[in-house]
Amino acid sequence: MILLEKLTFAYPGSGPIFQAFDWRVKRGEAWAVLGPSGCGKTTLLYLLAGLLQPTGGRCLVDGQPLRRPRPRTGLILQDYGLLPWATVRQNTALGLRVRAFYGPDDRHAPADEPVADIEARVDPWIERLGLAAVQDHYPGQISGGQRQRTAIARTLALNPDLLLMDEPFASLDAPTREALQELVLELRAEGGLTTVTVTHTIEEAALLGGRVLVLGPPPNRRARVVENPGGAQRGYRGTPAFQRTCETLRRALEGAP
Ligand code: ADP
Ligand code: MG
Repeated sequence: MILLEKLTFAYPGSGPIFQAFDWRVKRGEAWAVLGPSGCGKTTLLYLLAGLLQPTGGRCLVDGQPLRRPRPRTGLILQDYGLLPWATVRQNTALGLRVRAFYGPDDRHAPADEPVADIEARVDPWIERLGLAAVQDHYPGQISGGQRQRTAIARTLALNPDLLLMDEPFASLDAPTREALQELVLELRAEGGLTTVTVTHTIEEAALLGGRVLVLGPPPNRRARVVENPGGAQRGYRGTPAFQRTCETLRRALEGAP
């Protein structure tokens, strides 16, 4: 589904963060991307989202070089990205409204999607993410966990087949974080979703990645991959295999590339 071919990327005036980097993600796989702060995790996610362009090589999704964000790629960021003046419900509907206005991508005529249809597509996600009671509240009136749930609902309402998450649960308390991690695993179990979760926590990588891409200080020249066959399945947390993967990841983070 995702293919990086000799991808090189540098911000203007800085050294490369990725250099002739090859990596492949197959449809339906669950990947975690793990590495210390500044190693290029967010940069990689933006490249996969089509928000940054490679300076060399190629980034293909479904065989197409990415020239712009792709309609079925969902992106969930750490700081939620909610509109403060819109309610939970309006924020959840935002992506669908934008799509109805501009069309699935800005090359095509707008989809003729009546407002009633948008409301009907928002309802199940409001319910599922436990937001019904706060749907008329504004982001400033709800907890961090509820804000992140709203951001997730907004993304899922767009029916993504590729879900990119940048340290999505980093600022949440442990029970909220675990509940949302379980939700991601539940969504995966329903099928059809490819996930790439960026994290700096070893445990989150072991939990949400069936395979873990380990990045180091730039430039990253080759993909170091830790296989984690039991990962990204419910009930894996705390098992001996989970503990072993955490240990392997700890060594991979310490070790030379
Ligand atoms: P991570 O998400 O792993 O912490 P980033 O991808 O955010 O790392 O950043 C990788 C490197 O690129 C860092 O050294 C960072 O300072 C640098 N960087 C990030 N964004 C920009 C930018 N817009 N312009 C220049 N340098 C940047
Ligand atoms: Mg980052």
